[in-house]
Amino acid sequence: MSYRIEYERSLSDPRGFWRDQARDIEWFEAPTEILDVAPDGTARWFADGKLNTAWLALDRHIRAGRGDELALIYDSPVTDRIERYTFAELTDRVAKVAGGLAGLGVGHGDRVVVYMPMVPEAAIAMLACARLGAVHSVVFGGFAAPELALRIDDAKPKVVLSASCGIEFTNVIAYKPLLDEAIELARHKPEYCVVLQRPEAVAELVPPRDLDWHAFEANAEGVDAVPVAATDPLYILYTSGTTGKPKGVVRDHGGHAVALNYSMSNIYGVGPGDVFWALSDVGWVVGHSYIVYGPLIAGCTTVLYEGKPVRTPDAGAFWRVIQEHRVKTFFAAPTAFRAVKKEDPEASLKAGYDISSLEYLFVAGERLDPPTYHWLKQILDVPVIDHWWQTETGWPICANPVGIELIETRPGSPTHPVPGYDLRILDDDGAELGPDQEGNVVLKGPLPPGALTTVWGDHQRYLESYWERFPGFYLTGDGGYRDTDGYVYIMGRIDDVINVAGHRMSTGELEEVLAGHPAVAECAVIGVRDADRGQVPIGLVVLKDGANVGLGGIDGLENELVQRVRSAIGAFANFKRALIVDRLPKTRSGKILRQVLRRMIDGEAYEVPSTIDDPTILSEIEEALNTGSVSR
Ligand code: AMP
Repeated sequence: MSYRIEYERSLSDPRGFWRDQARDIEWFEAPTEILDVAPDGTARWFADGKLNTAWLALDRHIRAGRGDELALIYDSPVTDRIERYTFAELTDRVAKVAGGLAGLGVGHGDRVVVYMPMVPEAAIAMLACARLGAVHSVVFGGFAAPELALRIDDAKPKVVLSASCGIEFTNVIAYKPLLDEAIELARHKPEYCVVLQRPEAVAELVPPRDLDWHAFEANAEGVDAVPVAATDPLYILYTSGTTGKPKGVVRDHGGHAVALNYSMSNIYGVGPGDVFWALSDVGWVVGHSYIVYGPLIAGCTTVLYEGKPVRTPDAGAFWRVIQEHRVKTFFAAPTAFRAVKKEDPEASLKAGYDISSLEYLFVAGERLDPPTYHWLKQILDVPVIDHWWQTETGWPICANPVGIELIETRPGSPTHPVPGYDLRILDDDGAELGPDQEGNVVLKGPLPPGALTTVWGDHQRYLESYWERFPGFYLTGDGGYRDTDGYVYIMGRIDDVINVAGHRMSTGELEEVLAGHPAVAECAVIGVRDADRGQVPIGLVVLKDGANVGLGGIDGLENELVQRVRSAIGAFANFKRALIVDRLPKTRSGKILRQVLRRMIDGEAYEVPSTIDDPTILSEIEEALNTGSVSR
């Protein structure tokens, strides 16, 4: 089947196309209603179908006689452990944890926050919630307490599942104090916290709220999967919007299972028994879709890696894991390869490993910059495939669908739209643009199965954020173009969202943190180019008149601001520079000219917009950049 035929059918006959794909998963009650679209444009897929995502990911394979095959490999160079779980073993643990949660009163529709490092129990936690029809919300372990508190207040979980610590390189990071602080900060108080005690750090548990995971699991009776409606929420995953408050992306059971199952064979070229490795974290969408749900639903073996591209123990880590577990498809972010390239420019460590099992390399999270693409092509013998997607869609929008047809790649392009996605490029007035013209990348509704169905607790925000700008079209927030052969190029965000090492961050959120400092009158945070991380945030800060910068002076203040972001958001924000300036460039209506600032700091040519309030500010900022700050 060629890509073109498959793609065109998906758009001309979406109901027929997705009815066929829905037959490839097992339902407790197969859907007869394939798609209905609400008056506000929201798609509901498979509305009368009943299924259970955890059952699909686990029990189904046991029933098919594959219970003794490997479901999950936990590879943890930071603790020097490798553990292997068959489908039967994983099902057993998931059923027991689900039973334990049920014993705490968690049932269909209740929320459970998961704040865990990359251990098998993180996947078990997610699947256990799914088994009960409870809604999990995984919060990335790198988030500081205030961010966790925000999510607890929004999701209002009955229970939090957590661990005593995470491990970054050789640093043991205690999670429990962060969890305690978050619950202290939050208005909503979860009834229970179940904490996995890891030998590297033992947490203090305070009864009756805190429970020990091992005892909790050991004393529980396994429970069966609960049939849920296809449109019931499976999870909430928070992502940065353009304001300080993160958006809770809601994913359903049915559309999600069908879309992920479709993607595993058609995009990633894997099926039952193949080993699939996505290097990410359960706290991000890649972790949800392609460490936990996608591979397991498709009957693959998934690799859950608790380590880094480098220094755990060296830049040969990728090649070691691929050899050791016979990985067929590997997926990582470009920043991970830039880290490897920096330490081992010739990839000479690769020579020590047999990576012949590897058939495809996929990258996403940020644009695969052409230098990294060429480096990967040079060192590897397999297709290197950039593919583009976002938390909201849950699975790729553009890719080279190797299971359908391996299309020739072009550097800098994630190739073509995936079946199901009707991609258009619009100018700011909503007119469709032709080849090579850069504009807003949008998706004509309805979105395919698997994409978000709402923002948790705020459907209005969902409509305003995604559907209001161009009615009938989903706003991706990215800018880009298609070339004359239809290859798509995604060039970066058009809003105030930046991408740091493949992680999305809202400049507004960072600004709120800086603005909270008593000496700061106003500030702007912009993402500037960074050789390793793609982008990093830099703050431009205007001080209050007569502000007391303290004994440390300007440098001390910068340190305080850096520290502030670290403890409010987390070290992964990579916020390291705050520049003190006299004023910020703004439009006459008061909007900060971020594009101009970004181009200026990146050393690119920029146009001074006619709407600028006072153009002389720009030369002051130039001076600040040259000297490190502007004297008052
Ligand atoms: P997140 O929702 O955190 O996964 O971030 C999604 C955003 O990351 C997208 O909207 C893009 O701006 C960017 N992104 C992800 N993958 C790619 C890619 N392959 N090419 C270009 N941008 C990407």
